Amino acid sequence: MTSFVQPVGLDEACEAKAAEPDLVPLAGGTDVMVELNFRRARPHGLLDLTRVPELREWSVSDGCWLRLGAGVSYARIIKELGGHAPALATASRTVGSPQIRNRGTVGGNLGTSSPAGDALPPLLATGSTVELVSVRGNRLVRIEDFFTGPKENVLLPDELVAAVWLPVGRGPQQFSKVGPRNAMVIAVAALATALDGESRRVGVGLGALAPRPIRAVEAEDFASWALDWDGGSGIHADVAARFGALVAGACAPIDDVRGSSAYRRHAVAVLAARSLRWAWQEYRKDKSCG
Ligand SMILES: Cc1cc2nc3c(=O)[nH]c(=O)nc-3n(C[C@H](O)[C@H](O)[C@H](O)COP(=O)(O)OP(=O)(O)OC[C@H]3O[C@@H](n4cnc5c(N)ncnc54)[C@H](O)[C@@H]3O)c2cc1C
Repeated sequence: MTSFVQPVGLDEACEAKAAEPDLVPLAGGTDVMVELNFRRARPHGLLDLTRVPELREWSVSDGCWLRLGAGVSYARIIKELGGHAPALATASRTVGSPQIRNRGTVGGNLGTSSPAGDALPPLLATGSTVELVSVRGNRLVRIEDFFTGPKENVLLPDELVAAVWLPVGRGPQQFSKVGPRNAMVIAVAALATALDGESRRVGVGLGALAPRPIRAVEAEDFASWALDWDGGSGIHADVAARFGALVAGACAPIDDVRGSSAYRRHAVAVLAARSLRWAWQEYRKDKSCG
């Protein structure tokens, strides 16, 4: 490794990346350091982003959008953002161990773009947008357009993830994850659902169920149509089952040591039906109180 660059501001970070596009950004290091320690990567240099204050900030604009800096840790999301981003906060609780949650960031999860990244299904379900930055300016990318394949994304060599924009306060959200145990586990299947009472839409994000994190669009359309948004009546068992089947149908899972493709499809159908019921119960409760 020939360089270790430590910018103290976002402009400086962008200039460094433009000057040396081979520099590998380093946020919490919980993915990067594993690659280095196991000698799977020997980067030309590292761009340490931990001293860039802009990346560690979050704010809510007009009460509608949460702008979450790429360098905000999972521990802070759990502590500070449960109200604004409930599915992301729940997902953050399932990431690694306390040490990993103290270091790991959503920017790093996006940078790695693992199909099983836990922060990613909530971003998909809520219809979030990724803000990228470079010396050429900023650009916004819809989350479903960000991932291009397993561990691949649209980031250009001179770009960094600056932040993620999530809609806030629109309705109940859920995150569920299946794994062989409750902690320190890569998802075998993960699902986030987000109900948007304003637009009467249901969003569904899936992890570890396809070569990249995906939405389940047909299931979203079905649930958005089938739910009784005005009357608020309960979900019929057939509707929950159909929703589960459509979510499972959206997946293209692999067989691997952690689970078979058939198991993953079955698990996500169960998760989906349950999550929709839980989110709908919460929606009805909020509606009757409000
Ligand atoms: C023991 C252990 C347990 C884990 N458990 C989980 C888990 O349960 N769920 C889960 O999803 N993940 C898990 N991970 C993986 C990892 O913790 C997450 O992917 C985490 O979000 C990475 O964040 P980070 O800040 O540490 O990223 P880093 O390791 O610093 O970076 C990860 C990637 O993103 C790039 N990057 C970072 N920041 C930026 C930026 N601002 N702009 C552009 N590129 C950037 C880096 O160059 C690198 O390619 C685990 C890892 C370990 C070691």
